[in-house]
Amino acid sequence: MKKHLALFGGPKVRKKPFAPHPILGKEETKEVMSVLKSGQLSGFVAKPGDHFNGGPQVKRLESAFSRYFDAPYAVAMNSATSALHAALYAVGVEPGDEVIVPSYTMSASASAILMCGALPVFADIGDDFCLDPNEVTKKITPKTRAILVVHLFGHPARIRDIMAIAKKHKLVVVEDCAQSPGAWDGKQYVGTFGDVGVFSLNQHKTITTGEGGVAIASDKRTALRMQLIRNHGEVVHDHLPEAREEYILGWNYRMTELEASVGIAQFAKMEKLTRHRIHLAEVLAKKLSKQGFFSLPETRQGCRHVYFLFPLLYDESKTGVPRARIAQALSAEGVPFGEGYVRPIYWEPIYQKKRIFQKSNYPFNLGQNLERHYRKGSCLRTEFFHEKSLLATGLCRYPLSARDMEDVAKAILKICNNIDEFSSKP
Ligand SMILES: *Cc1c(COP(=O)(O)O)cnc(C)c1O
Repeated sequence: MKKHLALFGGPKVRKKPFAPHPILGKEETKEVMSVLKSGQLSGFVAKPGDHFNGGPQVKRLESAFSRYFDAPYAVAMNSATSALHAALYAVGVEPGDEVIVPSYTMSASASAILMCGALPVFADIGDDFCLDPNEVTKKITPKTRAILVVHLFGHPARIRDIMAIAKKHKLVVVEDCAQSPGAWDGKQYVGTFGDVGVFSLNQHKTITTGEGGVAIASDKRTALRMQLIRNHGEVVHDHLPEAREEYILGWNYRMTELEASVGIAQFAKMEKLTRHRIHLAEVLAKKLSKQGFFSLPETRQGCRHVYFLFPLLYDESKTGVPRARIAQALSAEGVPFGEGYVRPIYWEPIYQKKRIFQKSNYPFNLGQNLERHYRKGSCLRTEFFHEKSLLATGLCRYPLSARDMEDVAKAILKICNNIDEFSSKP
């Protein structure tokens, strides 16, 4: 007998809640205990000398990133937001410069640009939820200085095309890899194409230190500038022969030894966790391959998707059922999916009002015709995905199993097979 949807009083597909993430193990405990016993919770001192760049755990974490990504320099900070700000400032983004950024990403990708006194110019995304290179080209003006590429949900943006555009127009590129450590395009890791690659270690990312971020770079001067920005660089730069000529203002973006020690243990597990997520995503995609209402995430040829989230695009025109009802139905089955991701960034009040200070309208007063980038309707794809079609879940991850994915698939297929129930019930 056909079972009714849980939303309409039928039995739930999944009764047990899904296990939470992340799972910290004895490796993290051991590293943290060694720091606690050492009594040194942070190794940073804002003076010239060895301690300027932090304690032993911070340095170990940085070496692990350098080795894995084959990047000459890694600079650990207290968040990816800090690292994005430091990266943009380090590569020479100046007040009044325009920086192209996708309209669909976490707010920090764009606010890091404002932190430099520069102006975010939003470009629309493609079906991979990342910057569409054609949209990037349309947004270039004589004031464009940089492109901030985001590899969203774990899938690489069209980074090779974007690097070619950047080269042609002499722009710098910062990659926001907060959601995509370990993703690649043609076996080259994201984060190693641009001038700087930034990773996040916040609680919700694929590996975590609670809060934290790491920037990688191949240029020595860029790395040095990020180190100065991280640790009150204004008090030391004239003591360092290689930094004497830098004009620099530092922040306190330092990472503690405790965070770094958790990061060392987490980073060692990253590849294993990534493979597990990819496996779960493949299991789920296979089970869903025959339904007709949702488009499954696609991995571009030659790329590796690391599935920070598993995004589905829903086509309401095929069913007449609003997305919100589908999300409610999934939730009722015990399988939570989010509706949309974040709002298109330019919908945020700071862009609508072009204001971040009480009195001054810096840096927006340095821009020209910004309304055309901030007006509702300016990135239609982003708005459509956000409002109408995107459903995403973080269920494809450790410690869930292929067996759990069966429940996820069952809930989705049950909704597909019972779609008429929505029209026959209020
Ligand atoms: C999480 C995230 C950030 C910010 O990371 P924090 O470490 O929390 O500062 C930036 N960009 C994207 C795409 C993110 O997902």
